Amino acid sequence: MAIFASRGRIVYDRAHTACESADSASAKYTRWVLSLVGMTRAQIEEALGDRPDARMRSRQIANWVYRRAGSSFDQMNDIPEVLRRELSATFTLEPLQIARHLKSTDGVEKLLVHRGDNEVFECVLLPYGDRVSCCISSQVGCPMGCTFCATGLGGFDRNLDVSEIVGQVLLLQRLTPRRISHVVFMGMGEPFLNFPNVLKALEILHDEVGMSYRHLTVSTVGLVPQIKMLAERKLPIHLALSLHSPIDAIRDRLMPVNKKWPVREVVEAMKAYGRATGRKITIEYLLIDGVTDSIDQAQELARLIRGVPNVVNVIPFNYVDTSQGFRKPSRERVRAFKNELKKRGINVTERMERGQDIAAACGQLAGQHAGRFARRDSRSVLPVS
Ligand code: SAH
Ligand code: SF4
Repeated sequence: MAIFASRGRIVYDRAHTACESADSASAKYTRWVLSLVGMTRAQIEEALGDRPDARMRSRQIANWVYRRAGSSFDQMNDIPEVLRRELSATFTLEPLQIARHLKSTDGVEKLLVHRGDNEVFECVLLPYGDRVSCCISSQVGCPMGCTFCATGLGGFDRNLDVSEIVGQVLLLQRLTPRRISHVVFMGMGEPFLNFPNVLKALEILHDEVGMSYRHLTVSTVGLVPQIKMLAERKLPIHLALSLHSPIDAIRDRLMPVNKKWPVREVVEAMKAYGRATGRKITIEYLLIDGVTDSIDQAQELARLIRGVPNVVNVIPFNYVDTSQGFRKPSRERVRAFKNELKKRGINVTERMERGQDIAAACGQLAGQHAGRFARRDSRSVLPVS
């Protein structure tokens, strides 16, 4: 649905939508709330129609919505009151409702949110010494079925639309006086299965919120066609591949997607992405005790990515009872794996464990959430650490 003004009134049209959705599965939800969050400046201007000041007003409105993460039309003191009233009668600035808000002792905050439909998803605020990052979801659930993942265990409900994706960042921004500078798509869902909405959200975060593409990270399980499509845009978006093993037989067991796009193919696509965008190839590597943490896998991984600018981010397995018997490796094994990579000239980082007391890892809180908002069988997703 598009919204535009006619003779000073804001009206609807079906050609565009405030929270334009790329797939019919989520289109039904866009009927519920018309949201300024998720609209580009051009769409806001179009919604204002033939007002002579539409361009200037759209700039001011976008500034309130995105740069200032405004939650009320009353705050918009540079917008005439009549227009504010019209806007508030038509749109919301808060497409998401908070089902739960958890604060960790280490400063991490996690929100469990929904659109009024009880289909909950998660986002996390991660303050660091020098920057504030956030982790957001791209889908409610995930259909990829990775055998180590709480989100994957719970199945898939739907894609998030643009307002829901950008709305997570704005909600988290309101929790802190510091500016969020980094966004990672490492919450629930596979971003590349929701490609058009994720791409538009990235554009809004860059164009309107004012974030650098270099500070926007998309993490993917490795969908080769979408890696290529993003490479064609030649934007310096940070792309991270969840590889988790360089051996097809092992990766097949962990990630069904590997049967479609095996290791060699997906790593080639990442190298091409690196060449197209000038970014390092970034590999996320889950260390599961006795499964992915062997020295020969470190050696094979180093061989695969040697010679191209690279970084490997190792992630010790965060315990989820997936009935696979997966465990986190000992500190010694993690160290040995990292050292083997470093010895071979690979840049290695390790993902810090944060927010353990509030189940900050992917999909865990939504899995636990009981009662009115429950959407998962909580037996399958009990974080213990
Ligand atoms: N679907 C995307 C992004 C969301 S998952 C992807 O898979 O890349 C974000 C990251 O969390 C992925 O690297 C994923 O492998 C990791 N992850 C999932 N379950 C985990 C667990 N139990 N412990 C540690 N990391 C996990
Ligand atoms: Fe989906 Fe990523 Fe979890 Fe795999 S690891 S099931 S792709 S969210």
